[in-house]
Amino acid sequence: MEIERAQRLPSSRVRIIPARTRTSRNEENFDGQKKKIGVYVRVSTDSAMQATSYDIQVSYFKEYVEKNPNWELVEIFADEGLSGTSTKNRVEFNRMIERCKNKEIDYIITKSISRFARNTLDCLQYIRMLKSLGIGIFFQKENLDTLDSKSELFLTILSSMAQEESRSISENTKWGVQKRFQQGKAHIPTTYFLGYAEDEDGNIIIDEKQALIVRRVYRELLEGKGTPTIAKGLMKDGIRTARNKKTWTSDSVYKILKNEKYKGDCLAQKTVTVDFLTHERVRNHEHQPQYYIRNNHPAIISGEDWEKVQEELTRRNKMLRDPENKYRMTYSGAAPFSNKLFCGECGRPVTRRRLTTHYGPDRIPTKFTAWHCRVASKRDPDYKDCNCSYVWEEELEKAFMKLLYDIKNDQDFLINEVELAKEDVSLTEEEKRRLDELGTQIDRITDKISEMASRSTSSNETIYEATMRHLIYEQEILQMEYDGLNENKKEGEYIEENLKILIEALEKIYGPEEDFDPDILTKVIEKGIVYDKWRVEFQFKCGVSYEVNARRRPQRNKKAK
Ligand SMILES: [Zn+2]
Repeated sequence: MEIERAQRLPSSRVRIIPARTRTSRNEENFDGQKKKIGVYVRVSTDSAMQATSYDIQVSYFKEYVEKNPNWELVEIFADEGLSGTSTKNRVEFNRMIERCKNKEIDYIITKSISRFARNTLDCLQYIRMLKSLGIGIFFQKENLDTLDSKSELFLTILSSMAQEESRSISENTKWGVQKRFQQGKAHIPTTYFLGYAEDEDGNIIIDEKQALIVRRVYRELLEGKGTPTIAKGLMKDGIRTARNKKTWTSDSVYKILKNEKYKGDCLAQKTVTVDFLTHERVRNHEHQPQYYIRNNHPAIISGEDWEKVQEELTRRNKMLRDPENKYRMTYSGAAPFSNKLFCGECGRPVTRRRLTTHYGPDRIPTKFTAWHCRVASKRDPDYKDCNCSYVWEEELEKAFMKLLYDIKNDQDFLINEVELAKEDVSLTEEEKRRLDELGTQIDRITDKISEMASRSTSSNETIYEATMRHLIYEQEILQMEYDGLNENKKEGEYIEENLKILIEALEKIYGPEEDFDPDILTKVIEKGIVYDKWRVEFQFKCGVSYEVNARRRPQRNKKAK
């Protein structure tokens, strides 16, 4: 896999990420009765690596509500899902609304407008309906209380915007990126930043020697290596970190992989008016919004490769998660089966063990390597309910190679199965059109935000700020829908790409008893499920599954007299 040097530097695009604001909601309006609080949380399935995972959000909001002596937590309602557009993911939301109608909740606390509603119109409808019941919603990120009189203006603007939503976006094609972000380019300190340097004029330029290391890290991840293995490899080759240290950690590699600066973008911060209704300016670090600037400086990694890496990190993260989110293993990639095998009986990870067997008339103890469910091997004190047997590593390897040979001999079946898997994720024609349309809308809105950010806020600051905020929500909402559809599209492409990789790998298989090739396994297998009686299901990255039997045949005594 070739990590291409990213191309030229088109005009910058600014995407603004609204500031995280701390609420000032407290004891005011206390009428002697504790307010019954409902919390609504939506968890993105892709962000488990960030501090937004379900558990963290729940405990955060729990504490948040409990901190206020006048509040009483009724329930935390949580829906899971990437896209805000699908109603089927909003079971908990609907249940919460029902409880509101039964007057079991006085107040709803939620993270942001985009998490709460599917679009502006949807949002307004719920706000109004709940308001008519005397129920307020507090949007934490926007610091907006729907029962607060100050929110009226905002809601008015939001509503007029909602009405001409589609029209106003499409009519504004003229908004182009005319200037860079208000203060010019964002400054990135390059001294300790691997891959970049500054020229005499203070422009950021690529340090080609260091850039090689960055590209190596990205490439190796896409080749299937885990971050600890990549770190070890760098140390083995005597490569120094940005701070000229010999030690590379899994974490430092991970940070390189997650850094948007390598694709030329930059997340910059700027102080801004916080309360757009009272014109109050708050210069507080808590209230700094983030400006996301695209194409700020030359990229080391192409946007495409960067996205691939993010997807791969997400994929691995998902894969390593067991149902109860109990074991967060690091993706080591060291032993080929590491972190790829799960127990078919209890669903928990299957790990590598060194065991001893005795055979032959002399009962000579011999060590061997096996893969065994964590629970069944009694390495998990919390669970005792699994009796799944272990499989010999050697047998598993043999079975895998034999499977490849069988697949090679029946490629029609393989291709047929892949087609079926692709049908499940492929977008309909309508969805494809929607995805294109969303892309265009997001670009336009991004341009508009960039344009506005570069304009001075002279005349009507209230409207300016409100418009800006509206655009930002709109951008977020569109982005969510886009990401949802795009994930399916990417999944289809992933399957197709991995079918090619598998077929290519099969060319090297000539017989049923080839030597085990860990590279092929890493390249083609998503995960394996170990069932009882040594049955192992291999799930391929191209979307198909095959079951093999990895039973150890009775050993002939090699030292027979
Ligand atoms: Zn098990």
